[in-house]
Amino acid sequence: MMTKTILVTGASRGIGRATSTLCGARGWSVGVNYKSQVEAADGVVADIVDRGGKAIALQADVSIEDEVIRLFDQVERAFGPLDGVVVNAGITAPSLPLVDMSGERLRRTFEVNTYGAYLCAREAARRLSTGRGGRGGSIVLVSSVAARLGSPNEFVDYAGAKAAIDTLTIGLSKELGREGVRVNAIRPGLIETDIHASGGDPDRAQRLGATTPFGRAGHPSEVAEAIVWLLSDAASYTSGAILDVSGGR
Ligand code: NAP
Repeated sequence: MMTKTILVTGASRGIGRATSTLCGARGWSVGVNYKSQVEAADGVVADIVDRGGKAIALQADVSIEDEVIRLFDQVERAFGPLDGVVVNAGITAPSLPLVDMSGERLRRTFEVNTYGAYLCAREAARRLSTGRGGRGGSIVLVSSVAARLGSPNEFVDYAGAKAAIDTLTIGLSKELGREGVRVNAIRPGLIETDIHASGGDPDRAQRLGATTPFGRAGHPSEVAEAIVWLLSDAASYTSGAILDVSGGR
């Protein structure tokens, strides 16, 4: 199997971590991006390297343009031209109706989940496009089922920020169709990761997972499997797709 160079944003924990580990197990070289939890990122790298893979931890805040450009430069310097990028880094905030959300919260939600994702997707498009000297590849954006549910009284800001990712997937896939680049999105449902505790509700995935058609929350590895398939050559005719990985929710 051909080796690949893959960058995963928000790879120190949760879905990004599971995706990085699976990429490493495939023999692909992995750029493990994180924002502040260096020890967690180093742990992901150690996991991959211990199993004979190649990985490097790279600090960058995806909402800062200079840091995004530096991130892409660093991974290509370490492992050569990119073949795939997983635009995964994202945040939520405590559950509230819109009427009670502060401007600062709204700004940060869109800054990381939308602006940050657009910056990373733009940088990926610049590096992968054959017309710009790239060798083609795959961009996978991590959206959320929130984009179609709206998340009332929890986080309509986050839901809207993710809806923009779905729209970006549709438009960018058409822009890059003749550039050798496939662009797809995954919409996870309730997945057991730290994101719920970070939003102030650690039991959220388990509690609400019980109400879904499967009666349980998902595991990050179940999302990672779908992402890695979209990165792989097995998905060679799939672009512009938005795939729910949500246990039927
Ligand atoms: P998580 O466990 O909270 O991990 C978040 C990751 O993103 C961490 O690696 C964190 O780095 C990184 N990160 C946060 N802000 C960042 C920034 N500004 N720049 C760079 N990295 C940043 O989250 P998760 O649940 O795996 O979520 C991953 C993606 O899936 C997100 O886009 C999320 O919206 C989406 N999603 C999750 C669920 C779910 O139920 N878990 C459902 C639908 C969609 P540090 O470790 O350094 O903080």
